[in-house]
Amino acid sequence: RHTLLTRYFRRNLSSSRLRSSMPAWVIDEYGNNAVLRYTVEAPAPSVTSASDVLIQVKAASLNPLDISMRGGYGSKLLNLRRDPMSLGHNGVEFPIILGRDVSGIVMDCGSGVTHFKPGDEVWAAIPPWKQGSLAELVILNEYEVSQKPNSLSHTEAASIPYVANTALSALVNTGGLCRDNCANKRVLITGASGGVGTFSIQLLKAWGAHVTVTCSHNAEGLVRGVGADEVVDYATGEVTAELGRLGKFDLILDNVGGNSEQWALSLLKPWSGAKYVTLVTPLLAHTDSLGLLNGAMQAGCTLTQKAFKNMCNGVFYRWAYFSPDGPVLDEVCRLVNAGKILPVVEAIFPFSKVPQAFQKLEGGHARGKTVVTVA
Ligand code: NDP
Repeated sequence: RHTLLTRYFRRNLSSSRLRSSMPAWVIDEYGNNAVLRYTVEAPAPSVTSASDVLIQVKAASLNPLDISMRGGYGSKLLNLRRDPMSLGHNGVEFPIILGRDVSGIVMDCGSGVTHFKPGDEVWAAIPPWKQGSLAELVILNEYEVSQKPNSLSHTEAASIPYVANTALSALVNTGGLCRDNCANKRVLITGASGGVGTFSIQLLKAWGAHVTVTCSHNAEGLVRGVGADEVVDYATGEVTAELGRLGKFDLILDNVGGNSEQWALSLLKPWSGAKYVTLVTPLLAHTDSLGLLNGAMQAGCTLTQKAFKNMCNGVFYRWAYFSPDGPVLDEVCRLVNAGKILPVVEAIFPFSKVPQAFQKLEGGHARGKTVVTVA
């Protein structure tokens, strides 16, 4: 069986090495849904460095970032990352392929890749400066890739990597939580009914934390179903009072932004190391509007001021960001295979209906994830 598989992938591999184009949804300019264009002539990636892993995409999923990137959000900073010599100038990046999650099959590996081989079923979250997964092929660094949980289909698996890498970056790297210190922790998650929220609830429950969430009334069944202990409807107008009655928190993960900071920070336990971690930050919007240097400086000043003010009140204030990380997904894979984390897939679209998938996401009110089946 191994020999047959090897022959199959060698054949596929040599054709993928020779291919210069592939089917994909691309954008050639920033804008609304009308800029999404299907083509069979998108440049096909191939292995060019020792740590490259070429993946055939089976399923992708969409995140709010895809809507924002379609409109040009973050382009200055992302262009700097894509091509440092372009100094963040617009226009050099097109055509862009969106889609930050991939579940698929390894087609080819660089000479230095040790953890993967052609034929492996893998999943990964794709950094926003790289070409995305709304395409037949995607190329990533070995460090960004992980073996897919065998308990999930590709469609289910594609719903997890980006929100998992984001949640773990926020909760662990920024928030200081881990599986060994959550037992007595009280965590509040705002905006818990979306992709990041439904994943974070499950992760924190698997680690033994007590989890309170805010969401719309009609999402209560969903968030309780994935483990939330206390649920508060944010539309009642009495959120702060209601949350206040439940007791103070060790950590708040804010998925909503806006005026959350004004009422949520007072809900943290003061002088005990409690942290407010928000995923909604102005960094990229500032670099877009003010330029790289001024935007970064403005964001740095805002963060420093807020962190200092809150430190004086006995709590930590922090911004968190998605961070691509294959080994983190290995840990998530173990939790998924153990049945502790379930995929929350709200809608599935075929590859031919990518614009409709964007429309669905843009309508808001996510209840988990929107997935696109690619092959
Ligand atoms: P989703 O769109 O999947 O989910 C957002 C959820 O919040 C929806 O279920 C929505 O449902 C709910 N919601 C909206 N308004 C409120 C409110 N006032 N109170 C409580 N719930 C609310 O987003 P994600 O989970 O994927 O991402 C969450 C946020 O984090 C987004 O803003 C995203 O841009 C950001 N993010 C930032 C990253 C970073 O690197 N900094 C990385 C990933 C995400 P309803 O409107 O029906 O209540």
